[in-house]
Amino acid sequence: MYTRSVVEPIPAPSTCPDGDAASKSADRQRKKSKMTDEEIMDRLRTIVSIGDPKKKYTRYEKIGQGASGTVFTAIDVATGQEVAIKQINLQKQPKKELIINEILVMKELKNPNIVNFLDSFLMGEELFVVMEYLAGGSLTDVVTETCMDEAQIAAVCRECLQALDFLHANQVIHRDIKSDNVLLGMDGSVKLTDFGFCAQITPEQSKRSTMVGTPYWMAPEVVTRKAYGPKVDIWSLGIMAIEMVEGEPPYLNENPLRALYLIATNGTPELQNPEKLSPVFRDFLNRCLEMDVEKRGGGKELLQHPFLKLAKPLSSLTPLILAAKEAMKGSR
Ligand code: ATP
Ligand code: MG
Repeated sequence: MYTRSVVEPIPAPSTCPDGDAASKSADRQRKKSKMTDEEIMDRLRTIVSIGDPKKKYTRYEKIGQGASGTVFTAIDVATGQEVAIKQINLQKQPKKELIINEILVMKELKNPNIVNFLDSFLMGEELFVVMEYLAGGSLTDVVTETCMDEAQIAAVCRECLQALDFLHANQVIHRDIKSDNVLLGMDGSVKLTDFGFCAQITPEQSKRSTMVGTPYWMAPEVVTRKAYGPKVDIWSLGIMAIEMVEGEPPYLNENPLRALYLIATNGTPELQNPEKLSPVFRDFLNRCLEMDVEKRGGGKELLQHPFLKLAKPLSSLTPLILAAKEAMKGSR
């Protein structure tokens, strides 16, 4: 199995469609304003809270290891609330700007379908990001270990679309939508996380061209280095819906470069057993996985799609979460 993680951002060559004079000068400005390590630390110091996270939170227990740091659960001494804390050693980070990006976005964008940022601290080179804890694990655990029915898939799609509609209305493209970045609460709540690769767009610069994301989930317009907008997240949501049906995205058994080639040449991927899906679900998938970006649904529009009316209450996800946990216990 190949890596499910993001690729380093690769900027588009200046000959790509958005390489017009205006955006070239914007590009130059961005390069000029690239921050030094010291400037980054200064900026971080203005963002974080003052205090010792080892005193404010107790009972640290390691729950995971990511590319950028270690994740713990802990208890807020003042409130008794259980939280998740990501500890990041900044010295080891090649792209410190991405971390500032992640904190600023999470701090500003509060929504019931986004993992809530609670606080952050800097202790020497160690950055602590405190966020709400979602005990249900990631959607990846559920798609790989259990079978979801269409009503459960519809519920997850609706929740994710609510998050995307909110982000896009705030001019943010997530750019790394996949089951790994959807966390679940034990009550079935569904929340988007991992904002390290998101892009802020402005009316002057509403398109991006940097190749960012995780190959298997990338939209064709990202893969072929065209200017792209928020609808890349809708494509990735369509791929994530395929994960919920088939347990993995198309081409996962291919190496990432070949997957990029297949996305660019095949366009809309084919399902293994399309006849097993209801017509309304197939239509929803086709609206997400539409090659023509103009025709592809937007967040608001897809929230009205009849497929979402099939959704069961979120509490119907709890048995899946429990089953996934049980299955993973067995395989360890
Ligand atoms: P990256 O550093 O590239 O984001 P990653 O996504 O693998 O790597 P993290 O996001 O650091 O790693 O997460 C590591 C583990 O901790 C994952 O299994 C993730 O599901 C879990 N995790 C992260 N945040 C939370 C949270 N708020 N609640 C519960 N579990 C979390
Ligand atoms: Mg992550």
